[in-house]
Amino acid sequence: MANFAELGLAEPILKALIDEGYTQPTPIQEESIPHLLKKRDLLGLAQTGTGKTAAFALPILHHILSNPKRPSPKGMRALVLAPTRELAAQIDASFSAYARYMNFRHAVIFGGVGQNRQVEAMKRGVDVLVAAPGRLLDLVSQGYIDLSTPEFVVLDEADRMLDMGFIHDIRKVIAKLPAKRQTLLFSATMPNSISELAHSLLNDPALVQVTPESSTVDRIRQAVLFVKAEQKKPALLMLVDNDKVERAVVFTLMKHEANKVADYLNDNGISAAAIHGNKSQGARERAMGGFRDGNVRVLVATDIAARGIDVDDVSHVFNYDLPNVPESYVHRIGRTARAGRDGWAISLCDAEQRAWLKDIENRIGKDVPAITDHPYHSEEARLSTQRPPVLGGGRRNTRGSSGGRRPKGNGSTKQPKKTMSHNRQRKFSR
Ligand code: AMP
Repeated sequence: MANFAELGLAEPILKALIDEGYTQPTPIQEESIPHLLKKRDLLGLAQTGTGKTAAFALPILHHILSNPKRPSPKGMRALVLAPTRELAAQIDASFSAYARYMNFRHAVIFGGVGQNRQVEAMKRGVDVLVAAPGRLLDLVSQGYIDLSTPEFVVLDEADRMLDMGFIHDIRKVIAKLPAKRQTLLFSATMPNSISELAHSLLNDPALVQVTPESSTVDRIRQAVLFVKAEQKKPALLMLVDNDKVERAVVFTLMKHEANKVADYLNDNGISAAAIHGNKSQGARERAMGGFRDGNVRVLVATDIAARGIDVDDVSHVFNYDLPNVPESYVHRIGRTARAGRDGWAISLCDAEQRAWLKDIENRIGKDVPAITDHPYHSEEARLSTQRPPVLGGGRRNTRGSSGGRRPKGNGSTKQPKKTMSHNRQRKFSR
Protein backbone atom coordinates (compact mmCIF):
# COMPACT_ATOMS: atom_id res chain seq x y z
CA MET A 1 0.00 0.00 0.00
CA ALA A 2 1.35 3.44 -0.95
CA ASN A 3 1.88 6.06 1.70
CA PHE A 4 0.97 9.72 1.22
CA ALA A 5 4.50 10.71 0.12
CA GLU A 6 4.49 7.98 -2.52
CA LEU A 7 1.23 9.34 -3.87
CA GLY A 8 3.22 12.47 -4.71
CA LEU A 9 1.59 15.04 -2.44
CA ALA A 10 3.53 18.22 -1.69
CA GLU A 11 5.59 18.58 1.48
CA PRO A 12 3.39 21.11 3.38
CA ILE A 13 0.42 18.75 2.93
CA LEU A 14 2.41 15.73 4.14
CA LYS A 15 3.41 17.71 7.20
CA ALA A 16 -0.22 18.54 7.99
CA LEU A 17 -1.20 14.89 7.60
CA ILE A 18 1.37 13.94 10.21
CA ASP A 19 -0.26 16.47 12.55
CA GLU A 20 -3.65 14.90 11.80
CA GLY A 21 -2.26 11.48 12.69
CA TYR A 22 -2.95 10.00 9.24
CA THR A 23 -0.30 7.38 8.57
CA GLN A 24 -1.78 5.48 5.63
CA PRO A 25 -4.23 6.59 2.95
CA THR A 26 -7.65 4.98 3.18
CA PRO A 27 -8.71 2.93 0.09
CA ILE A 28 -10.71 5.80 -1.45
CA GLN A 29 -7.71 8.09 -0.98
CA GLU A 30 -5.25 5.61 -2.41
CA GLU A 31 -7.41 5.06 -5.46
CA SER A 32 -8.60 8.60 -6.12
CA ILE A 33 -5.54 10.74 -5.44
CA PRO A 34 -3.42 9.50 -8.40
CA HIS A 35 -6.30 10.22 -10.86
CA LEU A 36 -6.93 13.61 -9.33
CA LEU A 37 -3.27 14.60 -9.40
CA LYS A 38 -3.40 13.86 -13.14
CA LYS A 39 -6.35 16.27 -13.34
CA ARG A 40 -8.90 13.66 -14.32
CA ASP A 41 -12.57 14.02 -13.55
CA LEU A 42 -13.77 11.51 -10.99
CA LEU A 43 -16.92 9.70 -9.96
CA GLY A 44 -16.44 8.45 -6.40
CA LEU A 45 -18.86 5.97 -4.87
CA ALA A 46 -18.13 6.14 -1.20
CA GLN A 47 -19.99 6.49 2.03
CA THR A 48 -19.18 9.00 4.66
CA GLY A 49 -16.55 7.70 7.08
CA THR A 50 -14.33 6.33 4.31
CA GLY A 51 -12.02 9.35 4.22
CA LYS A 52 -13.51 10.82 1.05
CA THR A 53 -13.07 14.42 2.18
CA ALA A 54 -9.29 14.10 2.20
CA ALA A 55 -9.51 12.10 -1.05
CA PHE A 56 -10.65 15.24 -2.84
CA ALA A 57 -9.19 17.94 -0.58
CA LEU A 58 -5.56 16.80 -0.69
CA PRO A 59 -5.13 16.79 -4.50
CA ILE A 60 -6.96 20.12 -4.79
CA LEU A 61 -4.58 21.65 -2.25
CA HIS A 62 -1.65 20.08 -4.07
CA HIS A 63 -2.72 21.76 -7.35
CA ILE A 64 -3.24 25.07 -5.60
CA LEU A 65 0.24 24.83 -4.08
CA SER A 66 1.96 23.85 -7.29
CA ASN A 67 0.32 26.61 -9.29
CA PRO A 68 0.04 29.56 -6.90
CA LYS A 69 -2.29 32.29 -8.10
CA ARG A 70 -4.14 35.08 -6.40
CA PRO A 71 -7.85 34.19 -6.37
CA SER A 72 -9.91 36.72 -8.30
CA PRO A 73 -12.21 39.02 -6.30
CA LYS A 74 -15.54 37.29 -5.46
CA GLY A 75 -14.12 34.17 -7.06
CA MET A 76 -12.65 30.86 -5.89
CA ARG A 77 -10.09 28.41 -7.23
CA ALA A 78 -12.03 25.41 -5.94
CA LEU A 79 -15.75 25.13 -5.28
CA VAL A 80 -17.16 22.33 -3.11
CA LEU A 81 -20.93 21.88 -2.96
CA ALA A 82 -22.34 20.04 0.06
CA PRO A 83 -25.94 19.33 1.07
CA THR A 84 -26.02 20.71 4.62
CA ARG A 85 -24.43 23.41 6.66
CA GLU A 86 -22.94 20.89 9.07
CA LEU A 87 -21.24 18.99 6.30
CA ALA A 88 -20.11 22.23 4.62
CA ALA A 89 -18.58 23.42 7.90
CA GLN A 90 -16.92 20.05 8.40
CA ILE A 91 -15.38 20.03 4.91
CA ASP A 92 -14.16 23.59 5.40
CA ALA A 93 -12.55 22.58 8.71
CA SER A 94 -10.84 19.62 7.01
CA PHE A 95 -9.43 21.86 4.26
CA SER A 96 -8.11 24.27 6.89
CA ALA A 97 -6.45 21.43 8.78
CA TYR A 98 -4.77 19.99 5.67
CA ALA A 99 -3.74 23.49 4.51
CA ARG A 100 -2.29 24.63 7.81
CA TYR A 101 1.21 24.93 6.34
CA MET A 102 0.00 26.78 3.27
CA ASN A 103 -0.91 30.35 2.60
CA PHE A 104 -4.58 29.62 2.11
CA ARG A 105 -7.79 31.59 1.94
CA HIS A 106 -11.09 29.84 2.36
CA ALA A 107 -14.76 30.50 3.08
CA VAL A 108 -17.84 28.51 3.89
CA ILE A 109 -21.34 29.52 2.91
CA PHE A 110 -24.69 28.21 4.09
CA GLY A 111 -28.12 29.47 5.03
CA GLY A 112 -29.63 29.96 8.47
CA VAL A 113 -27.09 32.58 9.52
CA GLY A 114 -26.53 36.20 8.48
CA GLN A 115 -24.82 36.70 5.14
CA ASN A 116 -22.52 39.62 5.98
CA ARG A 117 -19.53 37.61 7.12
CA GLN A 118 -19.86 35.34 4.10
CA VAL A 119 -20.04 38.31 1.74
CA GLU A 120 -17.04 39.88 3.44
CA ALA A 121 -15.03 36.65 3.20
CA MET A 122 -15.67 36.47 -0.55
CA LYS A 123 -14.72 40.05 -1.38
CA ARG A 124 -11.07 39.34 -2.12
CA GLY A 125 -11.79 35.85 -3.43
CA VAL A 126 -10.70 32.56 -1.84
CA ASP A 127 -8.72 29.46 -2.71
CA VAL A 128 -11.49 27.12 -1.57
CA LEU A 129 -15.17 27.87 -1.14
CA VAL A 130 -17.37 25.22 0.46
CA ALA A 131 -21.06 25.98 0.01
CA ALA A 132 -24.56 24.66 0.39
CA PRO A 133 -26.33 25.30 -2.93
CA GLY A 134 -29.24 27.49 -1.76
CA ARG A 135 -27.27 30.28 -0.05
CA LEU A 136 -24.58 30.10 -2.72
CA LEU A 137 -27.10 30.91 -5.46
CA ASP A 138 -28.61 33.60 -3.31
CA LEU A 139 -25.24 35.37 -2.98
CA VAL A 140 -24.48 34.82 -6.67
CA SER A 141 -27.75 36.47 -7.63
CA GLN A 142 -26.95 39.41 -5.36
CA GLY A 143 -23.65 39.82 -7.21
CA TYR A 144 -21.39 38.90 -4.26
CA ILE A 145 -19.95 35.74 -5.79
CA ASP A 146 -18.55 35.07 -9.23
CA LEU A 147 -18.88 31.44 -10.34
CA SER A 148 -16.89 31.83 -13.55
CA THR A 149 -13.59 31.22 -11.77
CA PRO A 150 -13.20 27.71 -10.25
CA GLU A 151 -10.61 25.35 -11.67
CA PHE A 152 -11.90 22.53 -9.44
CA VAL A 153 -15.51 21.67 -8.65
CA VAL A 154 -16.64 18.99 -6.19
CA LEU A 155 -20.18 17.79 -5.60
CA ASP A 156 -20.10 15.95 -2.29
CA GLU A 157 -22.89 13.63 -1.14
CA ALA A 158 -24.59 14.23 -4.46
CA ASP A 159 -27.30 11.64 -3.79
CA ARG A 160 -28.25 13.47 -0.62
CA MET A 161 -28.36 16.80 -2.45
CA LEU A 162 -30.81 15.31 -4.93
CA ASP A 163 -32.86 13.72 -2.12
CA MET A 164 -33.11 17.16 -0.58
CA GLY A 165 -34.45 18.62 -3.82
CA PHE A 166 -31.38 20.63 -4.79
CA ILE A 167 -31.24 19.44 -8.40
CA HIS A 168 -32.48 22.75 -9.83
CA ASP A 169 -30.07 24.75 -7.71
CA ILE A 170 -27.23 22.47 -8.75
CA ARG A 171 -28.09 22.85 -12.41
CA LYS A 172 -28.17 26.64 -12.01
CA VAL A 173 -24.75 26.60 -10.36
CA ILE A 174 -23.31 24.34 -13.06
CA ALA A 175 -24.63 26.60 -15.82
CA LYS A 176 -22.50 29.43 -14.43
CA LEU A 177 -19.25 27.45 -14.11
CA PRO A 178 -16.44 27.68 -16.66
CA ALA A 179 -16.32 24.85 -19.21
CA LYS A 180 -12.65 24.20 -18.48
CA ARG A 181 -12.48 22.71 -15.00
CA GLN A 182 -11.80 19.47 -13.15
CA THR A 183 -15.02 18.05 -11.76
CA LEU A 184 -15.49 15.47 -9.01
CA LEU A 185 -18.73 13.89 -7.92
CA PHE A 186 -19.05 11.83 -4.76
CA SER A 187 -22.12 9.86 -3.82
CA ALA A 188 -22.88 7.04 -1.39
CA THR A 189 -25.38 5.48 -3.77
CA MET A 190 -25.80 5.37 -7.51
CA PRO A 191 -29.47 5.76 -8.45
CA ASN A 192 -30.28 6.69 -12.07
CA SER A 193 -30.56 10.34 -11.17
CA ILE A 194 -26.92 10.35 -10.08
CA SER A 195 -25.63 8.54 -13.16
CA GLU A 196 -27.50 11.05 -15.32
CA LEU A 197 -26.01 13.95 -13.39
CA ALA A 198 -22.55 12.39 -13.58
CA HIS A 199 -22.95 11.87 -17.30
CA SER A 200 -23.88 15.49 -17.90
CA LEU A 201 -21.17 16.90 -15.64
CA LEU A 202 -18.07 14.76 -15.90
CA ASN A 203 -15.69 14.35 -18.77
CA ASP A 204 -14.31 10.82 -19.14
CA PRO A 205 -14.25 10.32 -15.37
CA ALA A 206 -12.23 7.78 -13.45
CA LEU A 207 -14.61 5.61 -11.43
CA VAL A 208 -13.61 4.81 -7.87
CA GLN A 209 -15.82 2.66 -5.71
CA VAL A 210 -14.84 1.67 -2.22
CA THR A 211 -17.87 -0.27 -1.03
CA PRO A 212 -20.44 -1.98 -3.20
CA GLU A 213 -23.55 0.12 -3.60
CA SER A 214 -25.79 -1.79 -1.26
CA SER A 215 -23.39 -3.02 1.36
CA THR A 216 -23.09 -1.65 4.84
CA VAL A 217 -19.80 -1.33 6.59
CA ASP A 218 -18.83 -4.79 7.78
CA ARG A 219 -17.55 -3.72 11.14
CA ILE A 220 -20.97 -2.40 12.19
CA ARG A 221 -22.87 -4.91 14.26
CA GLN A 222 -26.54 -4.50 13.50
CA ALA A 223 -29.57 -5.59 15.48
CA VAL A 224 -33.27 -4.84 15.64
CA LEU A 225 -35.56 -4.81 18.66
CA PHE A 226 -39.24 -5.22 17.79
CA VAL A 227 -41.25 -3.08 20.18
CA LYS A 228 -44.69 -1.67 20.77
CA ALA A 229 -44.75 1.96 19.60
CA GLU A 230 -45.76 3.20 23.05
CA GLN A 231 -42.82 1.40 24.67
CA LYS A 232 -40.11 2.84 22.44
CA LYS A 233 -38.90 5.42 24.95
CA PRO A 234 -38.35 3.05 27.91
CA ALA A 235 -36.88 0.47 25.52
CA LEU A 236 -34.43 3.05 24.19
CA LEU A 237 -33.56 4.15 27.71
CA MET A 238 -32.78 0.58 28.66
CA LEU A 239 -30.55 0.14 25.61
CA VAL A 240 -28.73 3.44 26.14
CA ASP A 241 -28.29 3.01 29.88
CA ASN A 242 -25.39 0.64 29.43
CA ASP A 243 -21.70 1.28 30.04
CA LYS A 244 -20.82 0.05 26.57
CA VAL A 245 -22.74 2.97 25.08
CA GLU A 246 -20.01 5.57 25.21
CA ARG A 247 -21.37 8.01 22.68
CA ALA A 248 -24.56 7.46 20.72
CA VAL A 249 -26.57 9.05 17.96
CA VAL A 250 -30.33 8.41 18.08
CA PHE A 251 -32.32 9.01 14.89
CA THR A 252 -35.94 10.08 14.79
CA LEU A 253 -38.05 10.83 11.73
CA MET A 254 -39.55 14.02 13.07
CA LYS A 255 -38.10 17.07 14.71
CA HIS A 256 -40.63 17.25 17.54
CA GLU A 257 -39.96 13.60 18.32
CA ALA A 258 -36.20 14.34 18.51
CA ASN A 259 -36.95 16.96 21.17
CA LYS A 260 -39.20 14.60 23.12
CA VAL A 261 -36.70 11.77 23.08
CA ALA A 262 -33.86 14.07 24.21
CA ASP A 263 -36.06 15.42 27.03
CA TYR A 264 -37.02 11.91 28.10
CA LEU A 265 -33.40 10.77 28.24
CA ASN A 266 -32.35 13.87 30.18
CA ASP A 267 -35.24 13.35 32.64
CA ASN A 268 -33.91 9.85 33.20
CA GLY A 269 -30.32 10.82 33.87
CA ILE A 270 -28.80 10.39 30.40
CA SER A 271 -27.24 13.57 29.02
CA ALA A 272 -28.78 14.18 25.62
CA ALA A 273 -29.25 17.00 23.10
CA ALA A 274 -31.45 17.26 20.02
CA ILE A 275 -30.25 18.59 16.69
CA HIS A 276 -32.55 19.28 13.75
CA GLY A 277 -33.47 21.90 11.20
CA ASN A 278 -35.58 23.99 13.60
CA LYS A 279 -32.66 24.59 15.92
CA SER A 280 -30.63 27.74 15.46
CA GLN A 281 -27.10 27.41 14.20
CA GLY A 282 -25.88 28.37 17.69
CA ALA A 283 -27.95 25.64 19.34
CA ARG A 284 -26.70 23.04 16.88
CA GLU A 285 -23.11 24.06 17.42
CA ARG A 286 -23.56 23.89 21.19
CA ALA A 287 -25.07 20.43 20.91
CA MET A 288 -22.28 19.24 18.61
CA GLY A 289 -19.63 20.82 20.86
CA GLY A 290 -21.07 19.07 23.93
CA PHE A 291 -21.20 15.79 22.02
CA ARG A 292 -17.59 16.11 20.86
CA ASP A 293 -16.21 16.98 24.27
CA GLY A 294 -18.23 14.22 25.98
CA ASN A 295 -20.64 16.35 28.05
CA VAL A 296 -23.50 15.14 25.90
CA ARG A 297 -23.56 11.37 25.63
CA VAL A 298 -26.49 11.05 23.27
CA LEU A 299 -27.24 13.22 20.27
CA VAL A 300 -30.81 12.87 19.03
CA ALA A 301 -31.01 13.87 15.38
CA THR A 302 -33.16 13.85 12.28
CA ASP A 303 -31.58 12.54 9.09
CA ILE A 304 -30.67 15.77 7.42
CA ALA A 305 -29.35 17.44 10.55
CA ALA A 306 -27.13 14.42 11.14
CA ARG A 307 -25.37 14.58 7.79
CA GLY A 308 -22.46 16.59 9.02
CA ILE A 309 -21.83 14.77 12.27
CA ASP A 310 -18.18 13.89 12.10
CA VAL A 311 -17.23 12.42 15.41
CA ASP A 312 -15.04 9.37 15.19
CA ASP A 313 -15.91 7.53 18.37
CA VAL A 314 -19.66 7.09 18.09
CA SER A 315 -20.04 3.67 19.70
CA HIS A 316 -23.75 3.21 18.94
CA VAL A 317 -26.36 4.36 16.48
CA PHE A 318 -29.96 3.83 17.56
CA ASN A 319 -32.80 4.13 15.11
CA TYR A 320 -35.63 5.29 17.35
CA ASP A 321 -37.61 5.39 14.13
CA LEU A 322 -36.55 3.39 11.13
CA PRO A 323 -36.06 5.57 8.06
CA ASN A 324 -38.65 5.28 5.29
CA VAL A 325 -35.85 5.49 2.71
CA PRO A 326 -33.52 2.47 2.86
CA GLU A 327 -30.50 4.53 1.75
CA SER A 328 -30.91 6.64 4.88
CA TYR A 329 -30.37 3.52 6.97
CA VAL A 330 -27.00 3.03 5.30
CA HIS A 331 -26.10 6.67 5.90
CA ARG A 332 -27.26 6.59 9.49
CA ILE A 333 -25.40 3.50 10.59
CA GLY A 334 -22.29 4.85 8.84
CA ARG A 335 -22.06 7.31 11.76
CA THR A 336 -20.54 4.54 13.84
CA ALA A 337 -17.54 2.26 13.19
CA ARG A 338 -15.61 5.14 11.67
CA ALA A 339 -11.86 5.41 11.31
CA GLY A 340 -11.28 1.69 11.87
CA ARG A 341 -13.36 1.28 15.02
CA ASP A 342 -16.21 -1.13 15.75
CA GLY A 343 -19.74 0.05 16.26
CA TRP A 344 -23.28 -1.02 16.97
CA ALA A 345 -26.42 -0.03 15.07
CA ILE A 346 -29.60 -0.97 16.91
CA SER A 347 -33.03 -0.23 15.49
CA LEU A 348 -36.35 -0.08 17.28
CA CYS A 349 -39.06 -1.37 14.99
CA ASP A 350 -42.75 -1.04 15.80
CA ALA A 351 -45.62 -2.66 13.92
CA GLU A 352 -46.12 0.36 11.69
CA GLN A 353 -42.48 0.52 10.57
CA ARG A 354 -42.11 -3.25 10.06
CA ALA A 355 -42.41 -2.95 6.27
CA TRP A 356 -39.62 -0.40 6.19
CA LEU A 357 -37.30 -2.91 7.85
CA LYS A 358 -38.07 -5.36 5.03
CA ASP A 359 -37.11 -2.72 2.47
CA ILE A 360 -33.89 -2.01 4.37
CA GLU A 361 -33.03 -5.70 4.49
CA ASN A 362 -33.59 -5.95 0.74
CA ARG A 363 -31.39 -2.93 0.23
CA ILE A 364 -28.47 -4.18 2.34
CA GLY A 365 -28.87 -7.73 1.11
CA LYS A 366 -29.20 -9.37 4.52
CA ASP A 367 -31.54 -9.74 7.46
CA VAL A 368 -30.90 -7.63 10.53
CA PRO A 369 -30.70 -10.01 13.53
CA ALA A 370 -33.53 -9.54 16.04
CA ILE A 371 -33.02 -9.29 19.81
CA THR A 372 -35.91 -11.46 20.92
CA ASP A 373 -34.88 -12.08 24.53
CA HIS A 374 -35.36 -8.45 25.55
CA PRO A 375 -38.07 -7.43 28.05
CA TYR A 376 -39.54 -5.01 25.50
CA HIS A 377 -39.55 -7.46 22.61
CA SER A 378 -42.96 -7.52 20.89
CA GLU A 379 -43.96 -10.50 18.76
CA GLU A 380 -46.86 -8.47 17.46
CA ALA A 381 -44.47 -5.91 15.95
CA ARG A 382 -42.25 -8.64 14.54
CA LEU A 383 -45.12 -10.36 12.79
CA SER A 384 -46.85 -7.17 11.70
CA THR A 385 -48.11 -6.91 8.12
CA GLN A 386 -49.32 -3.34 8.49
CA ARG A 387 -48.78 -0.92 5.69
CA PRO A 388 -46.29 1.76 6.63
CA PRO A 389 -47.44 5.33 7.12
CA VAL A 390 -47.34 7.67 4.14
CA LEU A 391 -45.04 10.49 5.07
CA GLY A 392 -44.70 14.08 4.08
CA GLY A 393 -48.03 14.55 2.33
CA GLY A 394 -47.15 11.88 -0.24
CA ARG A 395 -43.73 13.33 -0.95
CA ARG A 396 -42.34 9.89 -1.14
CA ASN A 397 -44.22 6.81 -2.09
CA THR A 398 -41.76 5.19 -4.39
CA ARG A 399 -41.01 2.35 -2.08
CA GLY A 400 -40.61 -1.00 -3.70
CA SER A 401 -41.34 -4.05 -1.66
CA SER A 402 -43.52 -2.83 1.14
CA GLY A 403 -46.65 -2.71 -1.00
CA GLY A 404 -46.30 -6.46 -1.32
CA ARG A 405 -46.48 -6.93 2.40
CA ARG A 406 -50.16 -6.18 2.56
CA PRO A 407 -52.09 -9.21 3.69
CA LYS A 408 -53.93 -10.80 0.83
CA GLY A 409 -57.35 -12.45 1.02
CA ASN A 410 -59.48 -12.80 4.17
CA GLY A 411 -61.10 -9.47 3.46
CA SER A 412 -58.13 -7.48 4.65
CA THR A 413 -57.36 -6.11 1.19
CA LYS A 414 -60.27 -3.78 1.80
CA GLN A 415 -58.51 -2.05 4.63
CA PRO A 416 -58.11 1.64 3.87
CA LYS A 417 -54.68 2.90 3.00
CA LYS A 418 -53.12 3.88 6.27
CA THR A 419 -51.89 7.41 6.45
CA MET A 420 -50.54 9.54 9.23
CA SER A 421 -52.96 11.96 10.77
CA HIS A 422 -52.96 15.29 9.03
CA ASN A 423 -51.17 16.83 11.94
CA ARG A 424 -48.40 14.28 11.87
CA GLN A 425 -47.94 14.65 8.13
CA ARG A 426 -47.78 18.40 8.37
CA LYS A 427 -45.07 18.17 10.95
CA PHE A 428 -42.99 15.71 9.00
CA SER A 429 -40.00 17.53 7.75
CA ARG A 430 -36.40 16.72 8.31
P1 AMP B 1 -14.79 11.33 5.85
O1 AMP B 1 -15.26 10.08 5.15
O2 AMP B 1 -14.09 12.24 4.90
O3 AMP B 1 -15.92 12.00 6.58
O4 AMP B 1 -13.68 10.92 6.94
C1 AMP B 1 -13.96 10.10 8.05
C2 AMP B 1 -12.97 10.26 9.19
O5 AMP B 1 -11.75 9.60 8.89
C3 AMP B 1 -12.59 11.71 9.48
O6 AMP B 1 -12.67 11.90 10.87
C4 AMP B 1 -11.17 11.85 9.03
O7 AMP B 1 -10.46 12.76 9.84
C5 AMP B 1 -10.64 10.45 9.18
N1 AMP B 1 -9.59 10.12 8.18
C6 AMP B 1 -9.60 10.46 6.86
N2 AMP B 1 -8.52 9.98 6.25
C7 AMP B 1 -7.79 9.33 7.17
C8 AMP B 1 -6.54 8.60 7.15
N3 AMP B 1 -5.85 8.43 6.01
N4 AMP B 1 -6.10 8.06 8.30
C9 AMP B 1 -6.82 8.20 9.44
N5 AMP B 1 -8.00 8.86 9.54
C10 AMP B 1 -8.48 9.41 8.42
